Amino acid sequence: MSARVIDVRKLDAGYGGSAVVRGLDLVVDAGEVVALLGPNGAGKTTTLLTLSGLLPPIGGTVEVLGSSVDGMRPHLVARRGLAHVPEDRSLFFDLTVDENIWLGLGGNRAARQRGRDRAMDLLPALRPLGNRKAGLLSGGEQQMLAMARALASEPRCLLVDELSLGLAPIIVERLLPIVRSIADETGCGVLVVEQHVRMALDIADRGYVLSHGALRLQGPAADLAADRTVLEESYLG
Ligand code: ATP
Repeated sequence: MSARVIDVRKLDAGYGGSAVVRGLDLVVDAGEVVALLGPNGAGKTTTLLTLSGLLPPIGGTVEVLGSSVDGMRPHLVARRGLAHVPEDRSLFFDLTVDENIWLGLGGNRAARQRGRDRAMDLLPALRPLGNRKAGLLSGGEQQMLAMARALASEPRCLLVDELSLGLAPIIVERLLPIVRSIADETGCGVLVVEQHVRMALDIADRGYVLSHGALRLQGPAADLAADRTVLEESYLG
C-alpha cells in the first residue's frame, strides 16, 4: 500500500474566519499526481496555502506526511518534507539560477551543491543556465527554476500552483510531463493546480474539481477527461 502524503477531511479554509472552501475531502498518495481543478475563485490556491501551513484551517483536519499542520508554522511543514511552488513563483530576479536554488537550502556548501545537482538531474534544461540571473530567464525557464528550488530539498510532497500562469500552451505542454516524471522518479506525491484542464488530466492519476469552494467532482483522471461536465465545471463553475 502506498503512503498517504496528504489527507484532508472536511476542510473549511479561508480568510479572517470566513470559509471560502467548505467541507473538502482530498487525499494524495506517494508517487501520485493529483490535479486540483476549478474556475477562478473556486478555492484552489486557498487549499494549497492551508496545506503548507500559510493559512490556519477554520475547520476539519489537514494531515501532511502523517502530521496535522494545524498550528504548525510553514517552515516546519516544509521541514517535514512538503514543498510549495507558489502561483507567483517567488524568485529573486537579481540572483542567478544557482543562487535562487541555494537560498532555499540550509547546510554547508557541499549540501547546497548536492541539492542543486539533484534538482538539475530532474530539470536538466536548467543546468547550462546556472549563472544566469533569474530575471533574464524565459517564463518557462522561470517556472522550471521555481520547481528546481522546491525539488532541491528532496520533498516527499509537492504542491504546484498554476504552473501555466502566463505561459504559452506549447510551453505548458512541455512542462507538465516534467511534473509527471518528478512523481515517477522520486516517489513524491504531487498536487497540481492547473487551468489547462485537459493537459493536467493527461499527466494526472486522479483529479478533483472545486466550484465555489465545494467539491463538485472527483475521480480517476481518465474518467474525468471523458466527462464533458468536468470542462464546464472547471471553467464556468
Ligand atoms: P484562481 O484560479 O483565480 O487563482 P482559486 O481557485 O485559486 O482561483 P482562491 O485564490 O483560493 O481561488 O480564492 C478563493 C476565494 O477567496 C476568492 O473568492 C478570493 O477572492 C478569496 N480570497 C483569496 N485571497 C483572499 C484574501 N487574502 N483575503 C480574502 N479573500 C481572499
